Amino acid sequence: MKNPFKNLTIQKKIIIWFALTLLVIVTLMNTLTFSIAKIVLDEDIKERLMNTVVSNVEEIEYFNRLDAGMEREQGDQFLQYNSGWLEIDDDFCDYYEGICTALYDKDGNLLYGEAPVEISRSKAASFTSVGSVKYNGEKYYVYDRVLSGDSFDGLWLRGVVSKNERINILYNTVRLSFWLLPLLALLAILGGYAITRRSFLPIQQIADSAEEIGKSGDLSRRLDIGWGRDEIHQLASTFNGMFDRLEKAFETERQFTSDASHELRTPTAVILAQAQYGLELADSEEEYRESLEVIKRQAERMNDIINQLLFFTRLDQGSEPVNMEETNLSVLVAEICKDQRLISCKHISVKDDIQPDINVETDRNLFTRMLNNLFSNAYKYGKEKGTITMTLTRMGDDAVLRLTDDGIGISRENLERIWNRFYQVEPSRNEDAGGGLGLGLSIVKQITSLLGGKISVESEEGRGTSFIFVMKCKK
Ligand code: ADP
Repeated sequence: MKNPFKNLTIQKKIIIWFALTLLVIVTLMNTLTFSIAKIVLDEDIKERLMNTVVSNVEEIEYFNRLDAGMEREQGDQFLQYNSGWLEIDDDFCDYYEGICTALYDKDGNLLYGEAPVEISRSKAASFTSVGSVKYNGEKYYVYDRVLSGDSFDGLWLRGVVSKNERINILYNTVRLSFWLLPLLALLAILGGYAITRRSFLPIQQIADSAEEIGKSGDLSRRLDIGWGRDEIHQLASTFNGMFDRLEKAFETERQFTSDASHELRTPTAVILAQAQYGLELADSEEEYRESLEVIKRQAERMNDIINQLLFFTRLDQGSEPVNMEETNLSVLVAEICKDQRLISCKHISVKDDIQPDINVETDRNLFTRMLNNLFSNAYKYGKEKGTITMTLTRMGDDAVLRLTDDGIGISRENLERIWNRFYQVEPSRNEDAGGGLGLGLSIVKQITSLLGGKISVESEEGRGTSFIFVMKCKK
């Protein structure tokens, strides 16, 4: 069966649920109030009926004769009865709060008072406890009480009250809650509607903005739903954060492609020009050889660029295998230093100060590649006959590796940028060393994060540079 609620908006679902729940609560509350009030008020009216009749009994007296000196109050009634008189005090209530009281003789003749209900004489004085009768379509409670004393000769009082009297009082009591509760429920629903409407409005704005961003492909746009601290504003700011990262990633990707093609364009152009020169203009073997040498150099450079780019992409995509294993970093670093001494150039000497037996969890190949990159820079930008110092120390739980050269250094404003892909402080600086690509340090950074380490740089222009690599030691 089709669910009719499925296509409703969340706001409508909440409001419908809210309204139905309140309706059930209000109905239950009203039914409960009504039932309890009915029971309580029923008992109350019966008790008042009995009390009124009983107190009226006290207000009737019998006198054999009426003396001149008798104490009489204005409003007292005197009825001739048998051989004497009945005095009905002015406090006798023949009608009080809907309760009528009447005085009857033993044969059921009405002597005094109000009698809204006619009941057959056979039932005279028969309602010794509160009973209920129906008269002219209306229901009444009836209570009879015989006056005690010989002189009263079977006189009795009958109290009658309409059951509607109870209903009236009940109605007044319940009416308030009967209207007040639905009114409060209605207020709650309207309030809920206003709050959910306001709360869901930003969601609609988010959906609209996201759709526009999707259509226009403009990742620089952001969701703007104003200021707030609720979940929806948090969601919008999470989305905006995601757009930030996406925009950055796309921009980096675009930059990478453009830089890579730019880097490849120069050697390609040189190769083409040299090939053309060789084919069309070169006459001697020497000139051919010269052209071929230039072509070879440029092809090697291209090969270098392509290899680095491929390695970089593999790192980026996570397809470069990372094989973490327990490694004695002290031994590994000492070996790398030894190898680096063999390829040392510019008469630069390599010194090391390595604390023994520092064990870490790392990938030996990636670590070696990273350190070789740092060494290669230290040689490239190091001073002729200078020194490269390698130290490895354990500081607390950390293994701290520091590679220092006494070369040209890096200016403060360039320190942040050296990690960017293809960034070179000044390409001419390393032309002597065969040229760079500006990829070395971004590869170092990438490997560092793959190995779970951290890298930082300290440098002073003209004095030298230190790269500091930190990673957790194995316990
Ligand atoms: P490159 O191929 O140009 O060496 P890198 O990414 O390895 O690219 O380095 C980026 C830039 O950082 C270099 O162009 C260089 O100017 C600077 N740099 C890197 N290492 C050092 C260093 N040890 N001393 C001075 N400058 C350095």
